[in-house]
Amino acid sequence: MKVIFVGAGPGNPDLLTIQAHRLLSHCQICIYAGSLVSPEVVALVPKDAELHDSATMTLEEMEVVFARAQEKDVDLIRLHTGDPSIYGAIREQMNSLDRIGIYYEVVPGVSSFQAAAAALKTELTAPEIAQTIILSRTSGRTPMPEMQELEHLARTQSTLCLFLSVHKIGSVAQDLAVYYGTDCPVAVVFRASWPDQKLVRGSLADVAEKVEDAQIKKTAMIIVGQALSRDIPVSKLYHRHFSHGYRQGDSQRDET
Ligand code: SAH
Repeated sequence: MKVIFVGAGPGNPDLLTIQAHRLLSHCQICIYAGSLVSPEVVALVPKDAELHDSATMTLEEMEVVFARAQEKDVDLIRLHTGDPSIYGAIREQMNSLDRIGIYYEVVPGVSSFQAAAAALKTELTAPEIAQTIILSRTSGRTPMPEMQELEHLARTQSTLCLFLSVHKIGSVAQDLAVYYGTDCPVAVVFRASWPDQKLVRGSLADVAEKVEDAQIKKTAMIIVGQALSRDIPVSKLYHRHFSHGYRQGDSQRDET
């Protein structure tokens, strides 16, 4: 018997891994994060399976379900939104499992920052402009370590993907504008890959107003940075003069 932490992806069941899909379709006991995992994904669990919504549970209550699955010798699927490694609160569950003596594994999922980039049809890296992507958030009930406050991250001019922060878009945009400039592009993607997905594009100057107009208050990804622009240098990888291990550039061919 084992517990399998499974990434449910951003929402659309087509974005599940084949492994996640197979595990869900055969599972007998599942604890899922009801506040974020899409109903279409939960619907893949067989009708006669035991289903628990973790939104209403404490860690101790989860431990009871883990122990019952162990008694029955049945694998338990612990379904987390996106990829379980990002704001998944899996560490405390793994600590419990270690203590109880239950083996566990993790199946990765497509994270919401990737689904948001896909919805925006954008590359998050850009040559000479952004070679670093930062996954972060603003402080909520979970405080930010001081050196990771937005102002420190913003100094790097990286592409910022902010989880759990859309309700603070006003102050986020204001703080970031100091370092990125008010005309820096920003996008907010509400429920990337869900049927009711919404895209908001703007600048640090006007994004807060646009998000308010779109009535987006939660389950959204904020992406900030010049990488969102099309009007910046492009990679030389496919340029005919650029040669590399797999292709000889024209310049070299011209010389021969
Ligand atoms: N493990 C998840 C993140 C969980 S934290 C992942 O990898 O995506 C929850 C936050 O993720 C939300 O507040 C929101 O910022 C983001 N999020 C989750 N699903 C989303 C989706 N479909 N579209 C946009 N943002 C999403």
